Amino acid sequence: MSQDYPKRPTAAFIDLDALAFNFQSAKQFIGPDPAYMAVVKADAYGHGAVRCAQRLEREGVDWFGVATLEEGTALRDAEIRNPILLLGGIWPGQESLAVSLDLTPAVFRLDQAELLDDVARKMDRIAKIHVKIDTGMGRLGIRIEDVSRLAGHLSALTNIEVEGLMTHFAAADSLSESDFTQLQMARFAEAVAVFASYRIDPKYITLANSPGAVAYPESRSNLVRLGGVLYGLGGDILPDGIDKPDLRPIMAVTSEITLVKSIPIGESIGYGRTFTAERDSIIATVPIGYHDGLPRSLSNQGRVIINGEFAPLAGRISMDWTTVDVTDIPGVTVGDRVTIIGSDGGSEIRAEEIAGMLGTISYEITCGFSSRVPRTFLESGADL
Ligand SMILES: *Cc1c(COP(=O)(O)O)cnc(C)c1O
Repeated sequence: MSQDYPKRPTAAFIDLDALAFNFQSAKQFIGPDPAYMAVVKADAYGHGAVRCAQRLEREGVDWFGVATLEEGTALRDAEIRNPILLLGGIWPGQESLAVSLDLTPAVFRLDQAELLDDVARKMDRIAKIHVKIDTGMGRLGIRIEDVSRLAGHLSALTNIEVEGLMTHFAAADSLSESDFTQLQMARFAEAVAVFASYRIDPKYITLANSPGAVAYPESRSNLVRLGGVLYGLGGDILPDGIDKPDLRPIMAVTSEITLVKSIPIGESIGYGRTFTAERDSIIATVPIGYHDGLPRSLSNQGRVIINGEFAPLAGRISMDWTTVDVTDIPGVTVGDRVTIIGSDGGSEIRAEEIAGMLGTISYEITCGFSSRVPRTFLESGADL
C-alpha cells in the first residue's frame, strides 16, 4: 500500500545531471579510448542503481558493474540493455539465469566455469565470462601461479568465451603505494600473456577502478570500471596532489525540525547523558537516526546545516532521532530545513567530511542511507 499522504520529511535527493556531468568530466579526463563501465553495485553506492543506470546509459556508458545476480536482474527488469558484469561472480544454481539474462559473471574458480559451460551447452548458448586474477588484492581472483592451469582448463571448455580478464587494485588511491600498484600491473600483464599462450585473447583487459583510472594512465587499458568518481566522491578516494577531473556531489540528504525546546544549563540530552548543556540552550529535534544511516558514532561530533549555518549534534544519535544544538542560530523554528549532506546558504557538508570524522570512506556513508530514506531524483532541474 503506497498511498499518497504527507511523509516524514527526511529524504535523499539525487542529482542525475550532476551524475552525468561527473561521467562526462571523468571521460574527458581519462580519454575517449577505453570502454566505460559504471559500477552501480550496492544500489549505486546508495544513490539508486536503476535511475543512475538509466541516465548513464543515455550518456553513453558502455557497461554496468554490479555485485550480485539480484542486482543485475533489477537492471534487466528496468530494461537496461548494456552488458552487465557480475563483479562478485555467481553462486551454484544461478548459471542459467545469468546466461539467459545476459549477465556476465566474473569467474575465479574452475567449477564456476564448468557449471556455466554445462548450462550453456544445454541452452545451446556460449556463456561469456570475465576471469578475475588476484594480483595483490587477496580477495577474489585466482593467484598468479594458478593462471596457467586455469587457462589450460578453460581453453578446453567449448561453451565458454573468455571475454575479459580483470584484476582489482588494492591501493591505487594512495601514491605512497605506487610500487605495489605497479607490481599489480606487472603481474596482470604476466597473466594476460599466459592466457595468450593458450590462444585466449579476450576482448576486454581491465584493471582500473576510479583511483586507478585517474592516477595511473597506464592502467586504463581498454575498459575502466568507475564507481566513486561518478558519484562525485573524489574527495577521499582519489590520491592527493594529482590532477583530477572536476566532480560534483550528487547526493543531498535533508530533513526538517520536528521540535524546538529551551533547556537550562546543566540539563542532559539523550541516551547515556553524553551531552550536558554548559549554558542555557536551544535544542532542535530532527527525524533522522542511525536506522536511516546517520552513524551513531557521529554523536556529539557531527554537524548539520540549518538556515545556512552549521549546528553541532548534541547527545547520542538514536535509532530514529537526532538532537542538534541551535543556540547560536537565531530564530530556528519547527519545519526549518536541516541539511545532513549537501549545501545550504553557502555552507556545505560532504559525505567525505562525515567519513573523515569516523575514520571511514565516503562510500560507507552514502551506501549507509537506508531504504527508509526515500530517494528523489532530480533531472534538468525537474523533480521526477
Ligand atoms: C567496486 C569496484 C569497482 C569500482 O571502484 P571505485 O573505486 O568505486 O571506482 C571496480 N572494480 C571492482 C572489481 C569493484 O568491486
